[in-house]
Amino acid sequence: MVDASPAMIIEVEKGNETTLQQIRDLAVRCGNKLEVEDGPLFVTAWVIGDTRAFESRAGYLSGLPGVRHAWTVAADYKNIARVVRRQDGRAHIRERRPVEVRGLDGLVRRIGAGKHIFMCGPDSAQDLEQVLAIAKLARSVGERFGVLDRMILRGGAFKPRTRPTDWRGHGMNGITMLDAAREETGLPYVTEVMDHNLVPEIAAHADMLQIGTRNAQNFDLHEAVGRSHKPVILKRGFGNEAEEWFYAAEYIANQGNLDIVLCERGMKTLYTKGGYCRFHPDFNVITHVRKRTILPVIFDPSHPAGDHTIVGQNLIASLGYLVDGTITETLHEEGFRNQQLCDAAQALDMDKYAQLVEAVLRFEDSVGPALRAVSGE
Ligand code: PEP
Ligand code: MN
Repeated sequence: MVDASPAMIIEVEKGNETTLQQIRDLAVRCGNKLEVEDGPLFVTAWVIGDTRAFESRAGYLSGLPGVRHAWTVAADYKNIARVVRRQDGRAHIRERRPVEVRGLDGLVRRIGAGKHIFMCGPDSAQDLEQVLAIAKLARSVGERFGVLDRMILRGGAFKPRTRPTDWRGHGMNGITMLDAAREETGLPYVTEVMDHNLVPEIAAHADMLQIGTRNAQNFDLHEAVGRSHKPVILKRGFGNEAEEWFYAAEYIANQGNLDIVLCERGMKTLYTKGGYCRFHPDFNVITHVRKRTILPVIFDPSHPAGDHTIVGQNLIASLGYLVDGTITETLHEEGFRNQQLCDAAQALDMDKYAQLVEAVLRFEDSVGPALRAVSGE
């Protein structure tokens, strides 16, 4: 099924800044954003969001100096699709688009720019000492391997739990702990949001938001995150088809926010009944995301594992699928495991995580180029 409201792309000869600005102004007036892709002879301006108002007023654009073409395009998920059809039936292939997250340290983490991004940290911010310890360890791993500009801290404050009687996180007090960790280390952090009413408040603190698997189709939440214009990790619902996941991302993009990172975190399948895996990792979908969307795709090796001895194997396996990064639940000291209130069994010790970081870097240098070549990328 093709989206009833197609998007627009406008090709403008290089150097025509005035025309580009006029297009941008119209986009802003219509509540849209303009994304510009650079080409050798012309730039392609892509109107992001719900473009119906823009299109109805865009007639004069083709008469502006330097405009080569203004195309209406169609795709199932028009804002995030990699391949869209123009009116003349030809395919237009977009570049994949990195998502940037800047730290207090001034370094910009570029997710989807060809280098593995390392996200790690506790399942949840449980106490200040724990959060600070783990953030400092993450920073020192980043420094030791020269990948500080690829490190992002994770930690939940608002926790979706299957059972209502389980610990559900410290809420805004957890956010305060994560703020302190950022202040101390300069690392940006990502944290989960569950309630669309709380998005503005949490977005005022966090560097990146996370929509968890249990809210993978909570569209009010998605739209609130879209409006926040914060970078976001959108986890795949553990029962969702890839297409449903892409449409969910489209809810965020339709609000003019394209800073979306998709995260595969395992599915409920027949295999999860046997008890040897918590969720079944769908590695093939990583390739599918790259082919179908312009969004970066990361993998969560922890939640499919449910057991810390499997986490490293999951993480390394995802490298074979040219994943843009991983988000791993880690532990600052073994003694904390039996105090941890959520996902303790799958928390990976930071020393072991450091070994994995080193292995990823070796993989990137040795196997990466050949893998990209045989995969046609
Ligand atoms: C988490 O990141 O701790 C989490 C709850 O993840 P998911 O939504 O994938 O279960
Ligand atoms: Mn968890």
